[in-house]
Amino acid sequence: MTEQKENAARSLFQMLAPDDFAYYLNTDAEKLDVLRQQGIASGLDVETIELFISQLNTFDPTYSNHRGIQEIVKNFSRTGGWVDQDFFERVFVGVTHSPIASASAVPGDSEDDGALCLYENGLMQAIIFASDTFSYFGQSLKGGSASSKECNRYLHQVLDVFSQWRTNAANIDQQDTITFREKYSIGDDFATSIAGIADAFVVGHEMGHHLLGHTDLRFLDVKALEQIKLLAYNLDHLEDGIDEYLPDMIAFNLISDSPLNFRNMQPQSILSGLLGGAMALTTISLLMSDPYKSTPSHPPANYRFDNYLAYAEFHILPLSLNASVPREQILQVKRFRKEAQFFFDSLNRLRRERREY
Ligand SMILES: [Zn+2]
Repeated sequence: MTEQKENAARSLFQMLAPDDFAYYLNTDAEKLDVLRQQGIASGLDVETIELFISQLNTFDPTYSNHRGIQEIVKNFSRTGGWVDQDFFERVFVGVTHSPIASASAVPGDSEDDGALCLYENGLMQAIIFASDTFSYFGQSLKGGSASSKECNRYLHQVLDVFSQWRTNAANIDQQDTITFREKYSIGDDFATSIAGIADAFVVGHEMGHHLLGHTDLRFLDVKALEQIKLLAYNLDHLEDGIDEYLPDMIAFNLISDSPLNFRNMQPQSILSGLLGGAMALTTISLLMSDPYKSTPSHPPANYRFDNYLAYAEFHILPLSLNASVPREQILQVKRFRKEAQFFFDSLNRLRRERREY
C-alpha cells in the first residue's frame, strides 16, 4: 500500500462530518454506494475508496474533525456567559474495546487545537444502539399492547448485546446488533435524532470539563460558574463527584441551546436535551460493571442520571407559569422523563437479576 493511497483514504475521512461517519459505519450496501460516488466525484481512484471502506470499522489511530463540536459551540456562544470557546476539536479513535469505551477532555498541545475531546467510536456505536432500543421500547412495546413478559424478553436481548460489549474486551460494533435489528426493525427517525443529541451530549460533557477549568484551560466566566454551581447544589447527592455532575449540566445547556437564565427555552429544546443526555448516560450505565457504585473517577451512573433528568426538568418550571406555552408540550417533557427513567431502571434492575453486578 503506497503512502499516497493511505493519505488519500485518510482525506476521505476528513470529508465526512461526524454524523456521516456514524452513518457510514452501518455498512449498508446502499450507503456505501453513495460513499463510492462521493469518492469518485472527489477524484479518488476506486482502489483508494475500497481501502477506505474496508477500514471503516478498524481505522487507526485517529480521525479528527472540527465541525460537529463547532456547531454546538456556536449555539452556545450567543448566550454570553461563556468566553473564548473557539478552540475545540473532537477526535474519534477508530477501533475500541469496551473496557475503554469512553470520552475524555484533554488539553491540546498542537498549534491549532486549543482543547481536545477524545471520543471513542465504540461509545458512539453503543449510544446509537441504546437510542434505537429506547425508541422501539417506548413506541412498540410499552406504548403498544405488549405484555410485561414480552417487554422483559426484549430488555434481556438488549442486555445480551451490552453484556457482550462489556465483557471479554469485545469490540463495540454495530455489526453485533444485526440479528437484533432484523428481528425488531429498530432505527427510526426519532431514535436517530435522540442518538445525534446523545452524541453531542458526550462532547458537551467533555467541553464542560474544559469550561470549568478541570484541564489547564478555563473558558467559563466566574459569574456563569457560580450560577451553575448554585443550581447544582440545590439538587441532591452532589457533594461527591461534583466534578462530573457539573459537566453533565453544562452539556445539557450546550445541547439544548439554552441561555443560562433559563427563560425563553422552548419545551422541544428541553425535551431533546433531556432525552439526548438520558440516552448517553443510560449507555454509560450499561457499559459500567456496576451502575450503582462509584468508580475512582466517577460517581454512580444512577446518581448522574437522576441529577441530569432533574436538572433538565427544572428548566420547564418557568414555562409552567407562562400561559402561552401549550400545556401539552410541558406534559410531554414530563412524560418522556418518566419513560427515560423507566428504561434506565428496568434495564439496570434486570442486570441485577442476571447477576451482572
Ligand atoms: Zn467527565
